[in-house]
Amino acid sequence: MGYVVAETFDYVIVGNSAAGLQALRTLRKYAADASVAIIDREDLPAYSRVLTPYFVGGKTERDNLFIVDRDYYNQAGITTLFGRNVVALDAEDRRLKLDDGSSVTFGKLLLATGAEARQLKVASERSSVLRHMADAEQLVKLMQKAKSITAIGAGLVSLPLLSHAPASAEKHLVVGSNRILSRMVDAEASAILEARFVENGLQLHKQNDIVSIKEGDRLQLQLASGDCLVSDMLIVGKGVTPNSALARDAGLQVDYGILIDDYCRTSHDDVYAAGDSAEGKDFVTGEPIIQGNWMTAVEQGEAAAMNMLGMSCAYAGSLKNNITEIFGVDVAAIGECLDDSEQSVSVHDQKTGRFRKVFLNDQQQVIGAILIGETNDAGLYYQWIRTRSHFPGKHVLSGSNTYAGFQLRMT
Ligand SMILES: Cc1cc2nc3c(=O)[nH]c(=O)nc-3n(C[C@H](O)[C@H](O)[C@H](O)COP(=O)(O)OP(=O)(O)OC[C@H]3O[C@@H](n4cnc5c(N)ncnc54)[C@H](O)[C@@H]3O)c2cc1C
Repeated sequence: MGYVVAETFDYVIVGNSAAGLQALRTLRKYAADASVAIIDREDLPAYSRVLTPYFVGGKTERDNLFIVDRDYYNQAGITTLFGRNVVALDAEDRRLKLDDGSSVTFGKLLLATGAEARQLKVASERSSVLRHMADAEQLVKLMQKAKSITAIGAGLVSLPLLSHAPASAEKHLVVGSNRILSRMVDAEASAILEARFVENGLQLHKQNDIVSIKEGDRLQLQLASGDCLVSDMLIVGKGVTPNSALARDAGLQVDYGILIDDYCRTSHDDVYAAGDSAEGKDFVTGEPIIQGNWMTAVEQGEAAAMNMLGMSCAYAGSLKNNITEIFGVDVAAIGECLDDSEQSVSVHDQKTGRFRKVFLNDQQQVIGAILIGETNDAGLYYQWIRTRSHFPGKHVLSGSNTYAGFQLRMT
C-alpha cells in the first residue's frame, strides 16, 4: 500500500451506524482516555435506517432520524473521519488505507461496515433502493409527485415503504416467489398478512418479475407475466449484500459475511466485526448467520468493544427480532419462526385478526414467536426465547385466545 500520512489510534471503528455507534459508546464508557477514531463514507452523524421509510413517506422529519448530533463525537473526544472511504486493510501492519491516499493505524479495529442494497438489473432514474440517507432523499423527491408506486421484493424495505407512502397513491408490489415476508415469517403468517395488506390497498403481483422498463411521462414496467404496470416510480427492495470485501481482501476468513467467533473477533486477533457485515452464531440454532437487524448490530457492537478492551465477554448469539407496523397491521417475528420449525402452537381470532404462533424445539422450549395484530408483549416472548423457557403445553390455549397466565419454567 502507498501511504501519505499516518494517524494512529488505540481503537478504530469503520462504520458509523448501529454497531459502530454502540461500540464507540462502550469504548468510551470503559476507556475514557483511549484514542478512538470512527470512519464512515457518509458525512453524517449516526442515524436510524429503520426510520427512513417513515421519512420517505412524509411521516417524520429528516432531523428525527439522527440518533446523535455532530457535537456528540467532539464531546466524547472521538476523531471522526466522515465522508472518507476505507479502501484497503493491512491487518498485519494494522493499517487502513483511505480513499484520499492517507492511512490510519490502529491497535484494535472494528469492521462495522454493514451491507449494501442489491440493485435491479434493469434500472431507471425514477427507481431507487433504500439503504443510505442519499437513497431516502432521492425517494422523497420521487414520491412527492407519484400517483402510482411500484416496489419489487417483498421484504422489510418494500413493504414499509409502500405502507408509509401517501394513502392517495396506487401501490403495487412485484414478488418473485408466491408469498411475502418469507425471510421473516412462516407461510401461515405470510398468508394472513398478505390478506390484510391487500384489504388495506396493496396490489400484489406474485411469482413475477420486472423484465424491462420503458421511460416516458410515466414508467412502463413490463412484467414477466406479460402484464404492464404504469407507475411513477420504482422501489427496489431485493435484499442486501454484506460489506465484507475489506476483510476478504485482507485475507481474513469470510463466508457470506465476515466470520466472527463468540467474542466478535475475526480470524485476525486484533480485528473484530459486528452487525450486518458479520456472520456470527445464531442463539437458537448455533449456526453462523447474518441476522440483519438493528438489535443484533447493537449487541454485537457492544460485545466487540468489550472484547477489544480485553474484558472477555462472550456473546450468546443473535436472534431474529423484527417488530414493525405495515399497512396498519402490527407484526412481530422473533427467533426461529420459519416453515422448517419442528413444532408450533397457534391461535387466530378471525374477528379481531389477532394471531399468535409460538415455535418450540423437541424439548418444548420456546424458540420463536410470530405476533400479528398486537405486539405490545413482544418483549416477553423475546425473554422466553433468550432464557430458553419451556412452553407449558397446548392446554394453555384452550378456551382462550390469549397467553395470559402462562407459567413458564426457566431452564
Ligand atoms: C429501509 C430499512 C428498514 C429497516 N428496518 C428494520 C427494522 O424494522 N428492524 C430492524 O431491526 N432492522 C431494520 N433494518 C436493518 C437495520 O437498519 C440494520 O440491521 C442495521 O442498520 C445494521 O447496522 P450496521 O451498523 O451493521 O450497518 P449499517 O447500518 O449498514 O452501517 C454501516 C456503515 O458503514 C459504512 N461503511 C461501509 N463500508 C465502508 C468503508 N469501506 N469505508 C467507510 N465507511 C464504510 C456505511 O457508509 C454505513 O454508514 C432496516 C434497514 C433498512 C435499510
